[in-house]
This record gives sequence, C-alpha cells and structure tokens, in this order.
Amino acid sequence: MSIPQTSSRILPPREPDTPALEHAILVADHVWWVGHHFDDDPFQCHPYLIEHGDQSVLLDPGSVLTFPTTLRKIQEVVPLSAIRYIICHHQDPDITGILPHLDTLITRDDAVILSHWRANALIKHLGLQHLPLVCVEEMGWQLDLGGRLLQFVFTPYLHFSGAFCTFDPATGTLFSSDLFGGLSKDTPLFAQDERAFEAIQFFHEHYMPSQEILRHGLANLETLPIRLIAPQHGSLIPEHLVAFVFDRLKNLDCGLFLLTRTNSNFQRLSNLNRMLREMMQTLMVQRDFSEVANRILELAKPLIPVIGLEFYAQTESGDTLYLAPENNYRGTLVATIPAECRVFLGMSRHHWQQDHVGPYLVAPYPGSSLAPSREPIEQGLILPLFSPQNDLVQAVVLFRLAEKLVIDDEMANILTQLSIPLGVAVEREIILHLMDLEKKKAYERSIRDPLTGLFTRYYMQEAMTRLCRVHDRDPHASIALLAFDIDHFKSVNDTYGHAMGDVTLKKVANILIDSIRSVDVPVRLGGEEFVIFLIGAPEHVCLTVAERIRVRVSQLIFEVPMHERTITISCGIAYRHAGEAIAHTMERADLALYQAKTTGRNKVVVHDKAALSS
Ligand code: GH3
Ligand code: MG
Ligand code: MG
Repeated sequence: MSIPQTSSRILPPREPDTPALEHAILVADHVWWVGHHFDDDPFQCHPYLIEHGDQSVLLDPGSVLTFPTTLRKIQEVVPLSAIRYIICHHQDPDITGILPHLDTLITRDDAVILSHWRANALIKHLGLQHLPLVCVEEMGWQLDLGGRLLQFVFTPYLHFSGAFCTFDPATGTLFSSDLFGGLSKDTPLFAQDERAFEAIQFFHEHYMPSQEILRHGLANLETLPIRLIAPQHGSLIPEHLVAFVFDRLKNLDCGLFLLTRTNSNFQRLSNLNRMLREMMQTLMVQRDFSEVANRILELAKPLIPVIGLEFYAQTESGDTLYLAPENNYRGTLVATIPAECRVFLGMSRHHWQQDHVGPYLVAPYPGSSLAPSREPIEQGLILPLFSPQNDLVQAVVLFRLAEKLVIDDEMANILTQLSIPLGVAVEREIILHLMDLEKKKAYERSIRDPLTGLFTRYYMQEAMTRLCRVHDRDPHASIALLAFDIDHFKSVNDTYGHAMGDVTLKKVANILIDSIRSVDVPVRLGGEEFVIFLIGAPEHVCLTVAERIRVRVSQLIFEVPMHERTITISCGIAYRHAGEAIAHTMERADLALYQAKTTGRNKVVVHDKAALSS
C-alpha cells in the first residue's frame, strides 16, 4: 500500500516551537504521541498512535489544523496504510475535523472508525464515503488487535453523553479523551509534579456539569491498573501522579458554567468558585456568625475592595435585626435602618429586578440617614438576600467599600452568587435569634408570676440555691427570709369579688417590690402568701423593711366599693444560718408568721433563736 501524500487542501502546519515536539514521541511501549503543538494556545490537542504492525490504531486523529503534522509524525513510525483502526472518543472538530480527508487518504478496505453510537450519529453527518463507522458497544467494548487487546470504558457525560475512554492493558495507558485534560498556556507534554493539577482543575471545573457525573466516570476507571494517562488535552500524567489526580478530581467542585452567563474570565470564575465553596464550608463548620462574617469578609477581599460588612435582616415579627462588627455580629434589634438599606427590605424579587438589574451601588451619600451611631455610607454595595419562602428581600448585606467598584455583568453575577451563602448564613442567624428570644420569653414566663410580677416558686429554688452557696462560703453575706400573708384575705374575695382580690394582691406586691433593693428576691409563693429574701442586710434592717411593708400595706387606699376597707399583713422573719437548708429556714419563718397570726395579725414576728434549738 503506498503512502498517500498530504493533500493541498490541508493548511500548512505552523512550525512547532520546541524541537523535541517536532517528532513523534514514544510515550509508552509502541504508543506514540503524534500531535501538533500550537504556540500560545492553552488548548493543545493530542492524537496518539498505537503501533501494532498493520493493525495499528490512531486515536483522536485531529483537524485540518493539526493533521498535516500528525500525518508526518505517523509516517515517522508506520506508513499510513498500517492504520486499520481510528478511534474517536467523541465527535468534536478537534478530533474528527480531519475525517473527511482521512476518508480519502486511507484506502485499505478493512479500516474502520470506532466510536460510541452517540458520537457516530453525529460523525455520520461528515458524509464519509469509505470509512465505515463501528460502535464500540457492538464490539463488546473491546478491540482485539491480535496480541494486544484494547478495552473501552464508558464514562457517560464526561464531556458528552456518549463519552468513553480507551485502556491499553499492555502498557497501562489510559487514553482518557477530555477527562484529565488540562487547559494552560504552558503545558509540558508530561506533567512534572502536583502543580499540573491546576491546569486540570481549571479545565474540568469549567465544563464538568456535576461532581456526581465526574465521580461516576472516575469510578469506572479507577479499578484499572493505570500507569500513564494520555488525555486529549494538556499534559500526559505519569504513573506517580495518577492516584493524586484521581483523588483531586474526585473532590473537584464542578459546574462553573452555572455561575455566570459570561464566561470570559476563567481564572476569576475559578477563584469565585473556590471562594463560594470555602464560604459554604465555613457556614457548615462555624456556628458563630461573627466567625462566619469575618471569614466571608476575608474571602471577599480579593474580589471586591470591601472594608466592612454589616447586615440588616427582617424577622417575622417585623423587627430589624442588625449584625455588624460593633455588636460582634450578635444580632441586636434596631429601630433605625439606613435609608439606603430600608427601601429594599421586603421588596419582591420581581420589583428588585425591574429597578436594579444587579447589586445596588451606594454612591457617596452625605445626607445618609444612618443610625446616629453609624458612620455614613461613603461608598457601599448593597446586596439583597431573598427569602426562599416568599422571594421577598429578607435581609440586605451592606459592603462598605474602600474605593469605587465598577460592576460589570460578570461582577454582578459573582455578587449574586455570593448572596447565596450569605442568605443561608443570615437566615440561620435570624432563626437562632428567634430561638434565643423564645427561650428568653419562656424563661421569663417560668420565673415571673403574671399577676404580680413577683418571682415564682420555681425561680426561688434556682436563685436561692445559688445565693445559699455564696452564703455558705461567706457567712457575713447574710440571708433573711421574710414570710408574708395577707390577713383575712378570703373575706376580700368574699365581700368584693375575686377581681378586687386580685387588685389587692397587685397593690401589696407593688409595696413589696418598692420596699427592697434589686439584689433582694421577692416571691409570690401562691395565693396571698409572699416571701422576700433579703440579701446581705443586717438583722435590724430586715426588721425595718418588714415593718415598713406592714405599715404601708395597712395604709393602702382602695377605690369604691372597697374604699372603706383596710388591708393588713402579717410577717414572720427567720435569719438563715450558714449551711442551713433553705426549707428549714422557711419553716422557721412560717412558725414566726403563724405566731403573728395567732397573736393578733398585722404584726412582724422574728423567729426566736431559742426556738431553733428546741
Ligand atoms: P388569714 O388571715 O388566716 O391568712 O386568713 P386568709 O383568709 O387570708 O387565709 P386563707 O388562706 O384562708 O385564704 C386565702 C385566700 O386567698 C383563699 C383564696 O381564695 C384566695 N386566693 C388565692 N389565690 C388568689 C388569687 O390569685 N386571686 C384572688 N383574688 N384570690 C386568691
Ligand atoms: Mg394564707
Ligand atoms: Mg391570709
């Protein structure tokens, strides 16, 4: 079979820039790189030749731009007539552009093009006259060259739906098509070290739609004893880097295309992608919003000239939660919101999109209506965070900027992406804040008697346990227990009704509160029985307090119909001894109170110390 000459229809090749790349390069036993090297092109395309006598195989032959060089290199190894099989891992022009020409160059009758049926369905449109299309699935996913068996591995949706790779067990070479391909301005033919992954990452995170798809494909290949990866783009991966690139690819974040409509600046997109991923990680591991906010600030700095970050979020009850460095990002409720931010809270997404195509820039704004304590917004950027429930602006993020920021289409997209993790963070903070608020309310309910505002018996236990511990350590920190009981209270209810009884209870409670200091603990034990714990007061002061209360109660004036009624109260006092159980002190105060009741009421009785020993 004669060696056909290059047709004049084919563009003349440009000279390779590296002499070493001028010739076919043996990359594994009988496996040749026969590519054409482009200067200054991040997309280097690699056809390979498996030299196997007259059953030789050409993988991913190339295009009109590259094939003249490829043909020359093939012919350095074997005559073109030795090639029986042409494997096309997919149908892109950089692989198949040359097929119509090859169709005329290859004259042997048994030569075939091998591809997946899905690629064949497209290659068919090249209108080849001679070379038949054969599907790898029809061949049982393998090709017997006679003494050398190639395996085909299906890697669907890695690059396109019918994607597959070819494995050569004889050399452990994986012809991986686009998978493991790299995109870089300076690609060495062989990857030198782990830095090679940058080009691979760049290439894959840009076009690979999802990690699930990527992992599925990688799992199909991982079991193979791979000693060399020969991708269609980028650098060949030598054995010592194989496990490493597999591992890194498995954990690659994919779907960069989903981030933006424009895709001109891959590097920026790639950085954004990394930043968003880190933000999400931060959100997952950090419970503390201040750490989240500070980390987000740090991550955003390389992208935008941001010097400060604050949030205004609307809660369900209509309150505005303010999160900023000055409150260490612990949400506090604020009444004043900067006008620039206020207008957006509650706005619908539809409305926002009509008025602001992208994020909102605050120009220097001298008359800013910020809260008085806040610096005016000199230059800022406002991002709306929409509630997933109703698509209304639930919160706004205010980035304070060090300098003017020009928001092009791409930056607008980046910022919109940023608002996703920020929205999650803020929403979580709102929920946590509401939970804290609920907890506080529930606690407040459990410790306050709703009628009188005095502490409950429940709180008394808690507070007294704490206070007694202090008392036990320091006997000078005295505790006195004053037990009160309204005299003949039942008759108030009976004569004037329960409502007047309640009024009486409230009035008496007010006197109790009014007669003590904030450290003291006034408790409504139940009914018309009260207790006051006087903390650190000398005995004579306790007596004075009790007396004052007794007198003030007796001087209470009521409205009609109770205007002629006088109320009196009885009191028993016991001074706690260090180490004494509070229940015991209580019992002693009760005894004194009983004594007051039985000896005429409207009086204060101190528990007799002598009675203690009895
Ligand atoms: P004494 O001088 O011996 O203390 O006589 P008293 O009538 O005050 O004593 P008693 O314990 O017999 O009566 C207490 C009354 O307090 C009975 C109950 O109806 C009333 N009471 C308890 N809790 C409330 C309340 O929350 N509101 C009103 N209005 N009355 C209450
Ligand atoms: Mg009573
Ligand atoms: Mg009573």
